[in-house]
Formats: sequence, C-alpha cells, structure tokens
Amino acid sequence: MKILFVTSEVLPFSKTGGLADVSSALPKKLNEFDDVSVRVITPYYKKISSFHDKFKFVGSTTINIAGFTTVCHYFSYFFNNVEYIFIQNEHCFERDNYYGYDDDAIRFTLFQFAALDYIKVGEFIPSIIHLNDWQSGMIPFLLDKHYRYKEEYKYIHTLLSIHNLEYQGNFDSYVSRYFNTFFDYSYIHFDRVNFLKAGIACASAVNTVSPTYRNETLTKEYSFSLDGILSFRKDKYVGILNGIDNTYFDPFTDKAIYFNYGVDNLTEGKLKNKVKLLEEFSFGNKNFPLYVYIGRFASQKGCNLFYSILENILENNNINMFFLGSGDKDFENFLSYLSAKFPTKFKKNIGYDEDLAHKLYAAGDFLLMPSRFEPCGLSQMISFRYGTIPIVRETGGLKDTVVPYNKYLNTGYGFTFSNSESEELKDKIIESYLLFNSKQSDNINDMKKRIMQLDYSQTRMANQYLEIYKKIVKG
Ligand code: ADP
Repeated sequence: MKILFVTSEVLPFSKTGGLADVSSALPKKLNEFDDVSVRVITPYYKKISSFHDKFKFVGSTTINIAGFTTVCHYFSYFFNNVEYIFIQNEHCFERDNYYGYDDDAIRFTLFQFAALDYIKVGEFIPSIIHLNDWQSGMIPFLLDKHYRYKEEYKYIHTLLSIHNLEYQGNFDSYVSRYFNTFFDYSYIHFDRVNFLKAGIACASAVNTVSPTYRNETLTKEYSFSLDGILSFRKDKYVGILNGIDNTYFDPFTDKAIYFNYGVDNLTEGKLKNKVKLLEEFSFGNKNFPLYVYIGRFASQKGCNLFYSILENILENNNINMFFLGSGDKDFENFLSYLSAKFPTKFKKNIGYDEDLAHKLYAAGDFLLMPSRFEPCGLSQMISFRYGTIPIVRETGGLKDTVVPYNKYLNTGYGFTFSNSESEELKDKIIESYLLFNSKQSDNINDMKKRIMQLDYSQTRMANQYLEIYKKIVKG
C-alpha cells in the first residue's frame, strides 16, 4: 500500500511542535512494514537549505491560483529509510518562519495543489493521502474538484489527522477564490473559509491523536466550534494515541545529554545529569528537586495557572525550576520576574532549543504540564522515557497516558489533577515535593523506574494507522 504523507513540519527539517515528531516517527515505522511504502511531502522552508547539497531534483509543476501563476520544484531526499519530497517555491516557503504570515491562505493552498500535482510528477499513486492539520485540510475538496477525473487520482482515499483543533486555517471568505472553482459550503464555517472544517467534512476518514481528546472534541467545551461537523462525521472519526521515536528519545544513547543512562543505573544517571545541568546554569543547591517545563507558552498549555502560585512555591520551598519555551509575552515577562527574584532557584530559557530540551528531560525530577486541553502531548511520553515524573491535568492524551500516583499502593505514572485551577496544580507540586523529601522517597524512584519501562513507541501507533488505512481502502 502506498501512502503520501502530507505535513507542514517534520523533524529534523522543520518543527514547531509535536506534529513534526509524529511526521517523522510514523512514516519511518510504517516503512518497516513489508506491504507499505510511505513518502512524506512538505514545504522547502528557508532553514532546510542547509540540506540542499544532498537533495535530488525530481521535477516541477506550474500552478495557477486565482490569477497568480507560479512554479514549484520538487526535491527528493532519503532519510531514515523514508523518501522526503520538498516543495520549493520562492514566493511562499523561503521564509524565516513556517506560519503566521498574512498570506498563509495562499501559501498553504499552493502547498496543497503542489502536493496533489506531485502524484503525477513523481509517478507515485497512493491508496491514501494522509493529511495533517489545517495546512492540508483542503486536499480532499481540491482532489474531488480538480483531479478526480484523471486516471491517477480516481481511487485515492484521504485520512485527515487532527493534531490540534485550535488551529483551523480560518480566513476571510475572499480566500475561496484561491480554490479555482465555484463557491461551495464544504469549506465555509461561520461565513469564513475554514481549511480544517473542509478536511473534516470531505476526507474519507478523520482521526485525532488520543481517544479521550476524540471524545472531548465532540463537546462544545473542547471543539473550538467544530463539534457539529465532527459529530456529523462521528462514525468515521477515531482517536489514535501518538507514539514517540524511542530511538531518537533514548537516554541510553542520546548524544545531547551529559551522561547516558538506562533503567539499571537510572538513579545515578539522572542525578549526574541533574548536577551537571544545575552547575552549568548556576543554580544554588543541587539537592533540591528539579521541576522542568518544556513547551509553548500558550493558554492551551495551562500557563495561566502558574501566575498565582509560582512565586509562593519558590519562596516557601527548596525547589529548583527551569522553564524552556516561548510564546505569550506576558508569561515570558513573568518568568523574567521570577528569575530576577529567585536567581539561584529559577531559570528560564526563552526560545526553542532541542538539545537543552533533552538535557532537561534527563536532568528533571518532575515535568510540569498542566494543559487546559491536550490532543495527545508528547512531552509526557518523552519524560516517561527519561524517567522524569509528569505532573499533568487529566485531559486528552494526558488522561490516556498518565495513570495517577496512588500512595497506598505505590502505583501510577505521575501526579494528576482534574480541574484547570491553580490551587489544584499547586497541591500536586507540593505533594510531589513532600514525597521527594519524605521517608517514602523510594516511591519516587520506583515511579521513575516504572515510567521508563512504559512503551509509548511508534510501533503501536503505526499498527493502528495501518489498520485504519486498510479499513478506509476497503470502504
Ligand atoms: P505541542 O502542542 O506543542 O505539539 P507536544 O507535547 O505534542 O506539544 O510536543 C511538543 C514537542 O516539542 C516535544 O517534543 C517537546 O520536547 C518539544 N518542544 C516544545 N517546546 C520546545 C522548546 N522550547 N525547545 C525544545 N523543544 C521543545
């Protein structure tokens, strides 16, 4: 079975979040199956040019979008046993950032036409086009309107994976002219063009990235207004939990961390990583537990819960904390305030730093992840892998992966709370802190050992996707 995997970001070429991890891990795993061949197609962003010497030119296509005619070139590159196809266009993709431009609608309409054209140019006729998020959400519609009549496209099915319902590709209605066809309600949502809604409405099947988030998105509270169309497609809408690339996130071999370790020398290995990190960043006391936050500073991630509690926690407890990420400016300022007030206990790094993230996963005792909603969440799975105990809110994929710690039975994978309330988060931080310093601190080590042995690898995920591909093709 041939699959064309369409994604707007993929590691190691581009990344803003979990989509890039999955876009790399899933095709790699799927290609290990005998009867599957996956190619990944993605924009050729400016940052990717460092790989250019290794790329092979494949062909070109000319695309006209509402009178704007432009040429896209295709380049191919084999990496990790997967063929990557990069779509190059000087007007649309050769920029510093991936998204967030005023012309994103035209940029990603071009991307989608170019992905569809590739099927002919690259002579790669897939059974399924696997779409990811709004950036490829128009493909089922465009496929039906412009390509179906051609032999190569007649029998192609589509699967749309929703990695985050908050981002929908929501544009003014004038954007409909980019689709070069008559107006159609398939892509209209509240009088605006909505790429994700079009994908949900028109794809052969739809999935999101955890069973709990799938159910949550059918409710008003979590759907960002798309519960209607999702409910309409309910029978074709499933939740498949993401997995991580266990070879990339492996403390035993990870070159980014200070000392490699495995389950057998977990306590010693993590301690060595912690001490080194605390030294490097001039923390005051190396015996305090280390709490880390790694992720976007967005309301989705529950950052607002920290405002009213962190100062108090740091003032009254022997705790070290490190926040890595960027986003909301108020939150960044708040972190600057904390690092000025608690220079030996609190550090922040504003930005994206893959190596530092790995060091923090290895050095941390606890990972903070109090998300308001979380489609799947990879950070908690990565933190499992490095033996760092997550503190999370029970939502979406966090609920599906982090079994709550039970102090009587000494079971569970992390500390969890149910309501999006600062005090509930604070209670869990304090509970973990007290346990760390108590006579029962062995329970912490037991939990670290337990979570390191969990299997949230891409194998289970890939098997489930293969199953759904087969189901779609069967009809
Ligand atoms: P998202 O909603 O952002 O996709 P996930 O938990 O699914 O959240 O995935 C986040 C991924 O991005 C993880 O691999 C995490 O380690 C990584 N990450 C997030 N922020 C940063 C950062 N500032 N620096 C390095 N890695 C980061």
